[in-house]
Amino acid sequence: MRTISVALMCLFLITPTPHAQNRDSDTLDIYVIDVEGGEATLFVAPSGESLLVDTGWPGFDGRDANRIVAAAKDAGITRIDHLVVTHFHTDHMGGAHQLAERLPIRNYLDHGVTVDEGERPRAAFERYVTLRGDGTHHTVRPGDSVPVTGLDVRIIASDGAVLTSPLAGAGQPNPACEGFTFHGADILSRYGDAEDQRSVSAFIGFGQFRTVIMGDLTWNKEHPLMCPDNKIGAVDLYLVSHHGSDTSGSPALVEALQPRAAVMNNGPRKGGGPQTFATLNTIDSLEDLWQNHYAVPVGDANMNERFIANLQDFASVDDDEAVHLESSNWIHIAARRDGSFTVTNSRNGFSRRYGPRD
Ligand SMILES: [Zn+2]
Repeated sequence: MRTISVALMCLFLITPTPHAQNRDSDTLDIYVIDVEGGEATLFVAPSGESLLVDTGWPGFDGRDANRIVAAAKDAGITRIDHLVVTHFHTDHMGGAHQLAERLPIRNYLDHGVTVDEGERPRAAFERYVTLRGDGTHHTVRPGDSVPVTGLDVRIIASDGAVLTSPLAGAGQPNPACEGFTFHGADILSRYGDAEDQRSVSAFIGFGQFRTVIMGDLTWNKEHPLMCPDNKIGAVDLYLVSHHGSDTSGSPALVEALQPRAAVMNNGPRKGGGPQTFATLNTIDSLEDLWQNHYAVPVGDANMNERFIANLQDFASVDDDEAVHLESSNWIHIAARRDGSFTVTNSRNGFSRRYGPRD
């Protein structure tokens, strides 16, 4: 890998946090939690206020919820102030009930209503609707600001809509839009899986530090977000979209973001696509890619083991043993207000510090 007009935001009213949780920190702590090919990413502000994006899978005796609780414990928090469910697929929404049995969840943020019509996804969605009724529910729209003390959290995509005005300081023409190729042969197929393309995506700023979390927003939806102008600007850390699947992560997105480090929440055989690795390899600004799992299908394209949190392949172990594995490793990011940050692999303690952006 080579070492490479402010939108009019409507303030989004969310139940205020009555008091910070017990925590004394100068850093924004981010945990990219291994949920075996699902997604769960925990952000904890220095104030102790927390934002969890997605909850992993259901079942498995609460395996994924337990892993989220372990990260919360490490961060010194005892509740989730804001849960963003990016979209209503099982690998993102599924663990919410088991998590709510373990940690109180105050605010539920999502894109509103599922567009999946099958019986099972509808039933899962209805169960989630019941759960979110226990807290305060908010349907978010692009441009909304989520009030997390000490952080600048902006919704950049939701329910198929994207920002129409750039974030502060962004809006430059995006040269990587040239030659953008839509996936799918015609306009009707452009947006592919309807729930994925409705993902809630968010920009998160902490002082000079900038990152984005995309959910499973699709490649084709990245076009209106990033073209012809880059509405996000550069980021320090790219939380790789859609588990690293090749159906997201276009050069128009990733080149424009100019990340210095990236963390991919892939499973052994989920996400981690060859095109994603190839694209990330061409990003001059990118110093390192960190992976939550070794990606079996791409072989030598994987990073050095130091950068990979989990090396096991569940295909090689007994099914029962695999689903009940309690121990897993996360990638942790400690971000500082000056834009510098340190990424640590909890499996081996290997870490790397990235200085403030020039
Ligand atoms: Zn997913």
